[in-house]
This record gives sequence, structure tokens and C-alpha cells, in this order.
Amino acid sequence: MSKVLNFNAGPAALPRSVLEQAQAELVDFNGTGMSVMELSHRSGAYDEVHVQAKEQLKSIMNIPDTHDVLFLQGGASHQFAMLPMNFLHSNKVGYYVLSGSWSEKALSEAEKIGDTKVVASSKEDTYSHIPKELALDSLPNAAYLHLTSNNTIFGTQWGNFPDVNVPLVADMSSDILSKEIDVSKFDCIYAGAQKNLGPSGVTVVIIRKDWIKEANKAIPKILQYETHAKANSLYNTPPTFSIYILSLVLNWVEAQGGIGAVQRMNEQKANLLYDCIDSSEGFYKGHASKESRSNMNVTFTLPNKELTEKFLKEAKELGMSGLNGHRSVGGCRASIYNAVPLEACEQLVEFMKIFKGKN
Ligand code: PMP
Repeated sequence: MSKVLNFNAGPAALPRSVLEQAQAELVDFNGTGMSVMELSHRSGAYDEVHVQAKEQLKSIMNIPDTHDVLFLQGGASHQFAMLPMNFLHSNKVGYYVLSGSWSEKALSEAEKIGDTKVVASSKEDTYSHIPKELALDSLPNAAYLHLTSNNTIFGTQWGNFPDVNVPLVADMSSDILSKEIDVSKFDCIYAGAQKNLGPSGVTVVIIRKDWIKEANKAIPKILQYETHAKANSLYNTPPTFSIYILSLVLNWVEAQGGIGAVQRMNEQKANLLYDCIDSSEGFYKGHASKESRSNMNVTFTLPNKELTEKFLKEAKELGMSGLNGHRSVGGCRASIYNAVPLEACEQLVEFMKIFKGKN
């Protein structure tokens, strides 16, 4: 394990073994005499990586054949715009659940394209929980219902996803591949790779094939899901190196025992931290309500600003990196994505206990 414990929110920790394999293969990938970055995206050697990454993701996440997997660019933010450009047409309405800043950003892009409606929001409670009152029985003329499965900044996460009879879309940027989910419930799932999947640069979109057919054809070709689906994500040059690292991360997930094993490890890591917060007699206070706590981003505050700064400084001296909260909310945040080892969480908890004892 590296001496630095990486609690960054994204880009975030990658498995050490993935980095080592990438390093070993950097100048000569698979006997080609060149790096993956230098291969043509139309070559057989690259195609193997591309196809394997797609098939492996389908197998690990149990993605049904009704859905396609696309490797796009532009991050999740690009999907905030691409989704409504494709589906918010013919006077339909895009319904949004607001559970944090990223949901707000998704909504504001959709507002530029067509009619939108907020069905539920926890903004008044500083996004400390997933909205409870979901009026989802009647969503007239819906293009889709959009939600953010994990709120990276506030540290909240959906437990059970709602059953709706309109297309369901989720931004899963910060919890994709962290637990078992029923992909068939969703018409579209999208995620920037830079938390659980790999490095930034590739955006994974899992989308129901039949739904693609209903998309707007009057937008530029590069922005249509259909273009990328038809070309197997090779319409234009894909981010080949990011997809290569993604394939190594998927190998790593399989070596851990698959998504179920990764989920159990994530639960164990999160429980350690939340137990420490809950047993601290109010010294550490979690931002998220208990029922909405995220297993990916653990957000908490200390009694005052001075102690927070001291905490972050001392943590940094011990090699713990990235524990500061998002600039919009302050406090602390430990992002404990798949590749953050249990030992890193144990060391953080030990430090938190010692720090409390001294202060
Ligand atoms: N959605 C969520 C939940 C995120 O955490 C982030 C990035 N932190 C984004 C969207 C934006 O992603 P990107 O930077 O890939 O556009």
C-alpha cells in the first residue's frame, strides 16, 4: 500500500495493482511495441480492449441485453445536456428529483432545452437527506424521471429506487459499481469514470436500446445516442487510454469476488466511519441523516472552524489526503470509493479517535 491514503472525491483512488500493471505495460502493450495510447482506435489490438471492457462491465453489473453500453466523453456534465437534447422533445416534461448540487446542474441544463418539473427536493434541509415525499404516481407527459443516486458533495445515497412507469434515468457518477443494482429498472444510467470506474476521460452510459429509437433526430449527429450505439462507441476517436484503465479496474473488481464482494467491503468501510462519528459524543457530526447516509462519501463536521483546520492539517501530516469537504459546504469528507482499502479507513478512524481525545 502507498504511504499516502487517498480520500479524494474524484478523480480518486485507483487500485494499486491496476496502476502497476499500467506502468508495466506502458511502453509495450501486449507485444505491440507501443503504448495503448499510440495504437489506432481501429486496430485489432485496441479493439480487444474496447470489446472486453464493454463485455466485462455487462457481466459484472448484470446488464441485460435490452441495454447498450456506450463509452462517451465530456463527463457526467455532458450527459446533463445530452439527455434532454435527445429525449426532451415533443412538448414532453423532464421530471427531476433534487438531492444536491449535481441534480441542480442536471436540471438547469434541461431547462434550456424543454419543460421541466421538480418532483421533490431536500434543498431546504441543506440536502441532508434524499427527498422523502415523492409524488411519483402521476407524472403526466413525462419524457423521463431523473435522479442522482449518490450525492458526492453532501454524502447522501439512495437506498431503494422508486418504481415508476416512465423512463427512469440516474446519474450514478459517484456510486456506480459500488453495489448490486437492478439495471433493468433504469432506461439510462450515466457516470463519469473518475470515482469507481477508472480515470477521468471516459463517461459510461448504459441505455435501453428501444428508448434510443425515441430520441430526437434533429440534433447534431455527435450528440445523438444512436450515433454512438450504432458505431459501438467508435464513431469518433474514443478516450482509448481511459477505457484501457477501465478494463483493468474491471479485472480488479472480478478478482475481489465481483460486485457483491465489493459491496460488502464498502459497507464495512462505511460502518467503521459512521460508528466512529456516532460514538464521538457529538464531537464529530454527520451531515447526512442516518437513513440517507452514503457508503461512498462520508461527510462530517467538527465543533468549530479552528478544530476543522487543525484536523485537516494533522491528517495531511499523517499522509491522509483529500479529507476537506467540498468548497460549497465546508467541514470534512472522506470519499471511500471501491479502491480505498479497509486499512485506510481503519487508520482514519484511529486518527479521529486520537484527535478527539486530545481536543
Ligand atoms: N454528478 C455527480 C454525482 C458527480 O459527483 C460529479 C462530479 N463530481 C458530476 C456529476 C460531474 O461529473 P463530470 O466532472 O464528470 O462532468
